[in-house]
Amino acid sequence: MSAGPAAVVTTRPAPSPLGMEPSIGFGDRLGLGTPGHVAALREAGGPIRGIFAQQSIREMTRTGRSAETIMAAAVDALAKLRFTDPWSADGDHLKTPADIRRTMAAGFVMFTLDPSEEVDQSADDYDASTLTEKFAAAREFAPWFDEYRGQSVRLDSGVIEFDEQTLTRAAVKYGRAIRRAISLAQCVEEEANRLDQPFEIELSIDETAHPTTPAEHYIIADQCRQAGVSLVSLAPRFIGDFEKGVDYKGDLAKLEASMRIHAEIARRLGPYKISLHSGSDKLSMYPVLARVTGGKFHVKTAGTSYLEALRVAAQHDPSLFREIIDFSRSRFDEDKASYHVSAVVNEIPAPDEVEDSVILERLYLDRWEDVAPGRGFTEPGRQILHCTFGSVITNAKLGPRLVSLLKAHPQEHCEILRQHFVRHLQPLNAG
Ligand SMILES: [Zn+2]
Repeated sequence: MSAGPAAVVTTRPAPSPLGMEPSIGFGDRLGLGTPGHVAALREAGGPIRGIFAQQSIREMTRTGRSAETIMAAAVDALAKLRFTDPWSADGDHLKTPADIRRTMAAGFVMFTLDPSEEVDQSADDYDASTLTEKFAAAREFAPWFDEYRGQSVRLDSGVIEFDEQTLTRAAVKYGRAIRRAISLAQCVEEEANRLDQPFEIELSIDETAHPTTPAEHYIIADQCRQAGVSLVSLAPRFIGDFEKGVDYKGDLAKLEASMRIHAEIARRLGPYKISLHSGSDKLSMYPVLARVTGGKFHVKTAGTSYLEALRVAAQHDPSLFREIIDFSRSRFDEDKASYHVSAVVNEIPAPDEVEDSVILERLYLDRWEDVAPGRGFTEPGRQILHCTFGSVITNAKLGPRLVSLLKAHPQEHCEILRQHFVRHLQPLNAG
């Protein structure tokens, strides 16, 4: 056996915990986006670090990709780019110990824990008697109830009062979820120690119907801290509307006031970063986020890179783009189930009603407020394509055609992603 050419020692890029450095997550459902993500980071400059492998279990299920495949796509791309800056890999929205083991085995080092299955989503709507009844059952999961009772926390940005009513609702809503979060965090720690791997933990409580109140945030983070769980970031559910694929819908001044309180709690009980999920396209709120957190933020994007990749189809294989839209329209009502969107298929013209390819691309891929408010369509085509990625990627015909098109146009793909994310990064840097 020949030893081959003189051994060149190259270290494969490996993810590492990013700590308090500001960061952006580039969920990459096709596994071909990293060159564009890196190009955007390089052009924008500034301190923001990239998370190039980031996928939730739900996304893995929908795209039929494994944690290993996702990690390998990022590592291979970074090796080719000779990328040497620190970067990370985020197992997103992990709900069970099995989810944690699966992503850690593949080398992920950031673990976003999601105890939402244990959140009582109706708690904010219970009347007094229902709440009392629910509280009797939840009491044992909220041993902290008496610890906060009648207390208040004075912050620069406001006062948090732990009155009976607030605590009762918090116990019902989050009692079990806090326990779940702590046990998941302990699982991360044990597993990481066993494998001798570094780790950091984000706690996500963003997927709830109602915004996270300061009192709820405080109790959740304080209980984690008391249990010895140190968080690198926490994703509250913010006030206002965070629909996929469109800008923030809500009052920016109110958002800033509430975000200021969340950021102060994060400084007080951590410090940890404030994390913004469904973070793509929320351009109007980025400067606020960056400013009030003093640069201690994480922004998570997931679907937007897939949508931008579809522009390559729109521009270089218009018939494929039309087929993807037709197919996505047929899948939307089923696929949208777990997403927060409001698009209605029949309110957006079908491809055969739109001859002009440029207009079709705008209708289905541009931010709605840029397309044309007042044209009669209430919501963007972008949401239709956003929700149906799994069906398209796993479709025996469309998936491979899209992938080979992107591989045939790497520069165009990279350029589209670069432009898209520079638009995101600049306001975050400017905050
Ligand atoms: Zn989330």
